[in-house]
Amino acid sequence: MKPSMFNVQVPLPERHEVFLMNTFSDAQLLVSADVAALLQRLDTGGDAFNEEERETLDTLAENGFVVASREAERRGLDEFFRSVREDREQLKVTVLTTLQCNFACDYCFQGDHGDHNLFAQKMTLEQAAQVVAWIEERLDSLQPERFILTLFGGEPLLNLPVAYYLAERCLTACRARGIEQKVSVITNGLLLTEAVVDRLLPCGLIGVKITLDGDRDTHNRMRPLRGRQGTFDRIVENMRRVAHKVPLTVGGNFDESSVDSYPALLDFLREQSFADAIVKVNFKPIIKTTPATPKGMIPLTVVGESGKPLNGTCMTTAGAGNGSPCDSCHFVDEKMAFLRSETRKRGFPTPDGVHMGPCEIHRKHAYTIGPDGSLYACPGFTGEQAQSVGHIDGRHDEWRASASARFEALAAYKNCGDCSFIPVCAGGCSVASHTELGDMNTPTCHKGSFESALVQLAHSVSAAVVS
Ligand code: SF4
Ligand code: SF4
Repeated sequence: MKPSMFNVQVPLPERHEVFLMNTFSDAQLLVSADVAALLQRLDTGGDAFNEEERETLDTLAENGFVVASREAERRGLDEFFRSVREDREQLKVTVLTTLQCNFACDYCFQGDHGDHNLFAQKMTLEQAAQVVAWIEERLDSLQPERFILTLFGGEPLLNLPVAYYLAERCLTACRARGIEQKVSVITNGLLLTEAVVDRLLPCGLIGVKITLDGDRDTHNRMRPLRGRQGTFDRIVENMRRVAHKVPLTVGGNFDESSVDSYPALLDFLREQSFADAIVKVNFKPIIKTTPATPKGMIPLTVVGESGKPLNGTCMTTAGAGNGSPCDSCHFVDEKMAFLRSETRKRGFPTPDGVHMGPCEIHRKHAYTIGPDGSLYACPGFTGEQAQSVGHIDGRHDEWRASASARFEALAAYKNCGDCSFIPVCAGGCSVASHTELGDMNTPTCHKGSFESALVQLAHSVSAAVVS
């Protein structure tokens, strides 16, 4: 018997207890310090346990805190990732209806800058018909319980005919096969009207995600139109008009200059009549993708003293929390914890920062389709055609076939040693690994973020349990 490598603990001295969680089984317990000490004894090879201790170990084993052997646990982990990969319950397809955008955000290379929109791809109705035919074929071969369609871009609502066509034709295809369809839209919110929502609701619209990058002034600075006009008021008005019809999620991108304006945004949202229609609030740092950090962006690449990326150095081995070379990562981790706590204080649900993955890149039956019909393993790779894993018309290209093989074998977590967060992290975001570290199988590690989120989770569980 061994303690699981996926056990994580947070001492709660004020309760004289320890929060114990297993990230693989997701079991969470508040235990006495004696139980934590018992696990410690087991870990160091102790085997002289009295009857009461054996009963405790049996209970811990039932909840995954104690395992037969580390080898068996490793095999279980591989099996878990295999089952995630092969899961056939749902077919998830994200379609980029266009790469055009009506915003001119400084931190985005797309959008209404220069002549980008002139050349940016936009899906035609003919291409949309091919997408539907491809989806029908996938539905037939997979026979999932659910089909989840996400409309994304660029700005997806700049191509409404294709958005409506896809949602309606796919609904017909799903109904003919007895499959439930769910639709969500990720939009900047400027063109979100009641008419759009009314048209998509019968197709299974379950949510709309809108981006607000801070309070009114900050958002208007971060997400203006090409002529620098602000967009905040219009977006909020649009949210107000549709909130009684569809659940809304608010996402936001923060950088060093905007992060402190989020509490004011949260206060503002809480005061709105539609506050209760906001089902989730989630913020993310703006991540640079080039070695030179543009002013105002948070550098996330792990760098050594020479300023060169440590290519492949995971924070676990680089010494996170112990003289880590990456102060910026810690800055982001701190800010994420701050934003989570500010969001919760105002009563908005937000991800707990621990239950984060594995993300959709680990699922074989989750696809992203670009406006030209190219297939990608996840939305983050759509900016790079060389990462396309296929095409909806079935054409064979060597480079797509080799990209497909690369994604099939993707397992950054295998380079994560015995990290306790593997089941909920899976080695981090593969897009960040690819763009920042040059290898998608190198973990992009933000272990500090998991650790601070775990402390928050422990305290919220503790607060919910009456002692
Ligand atoms: S990338 Fe994730 S799983 Fe890998 S060491 Fe870092 S926190 Fe752990
Ligand atoms: S690899 Fe990164 S961008 Fe792609 S789905 Fe996962 S977390 Fe998202």
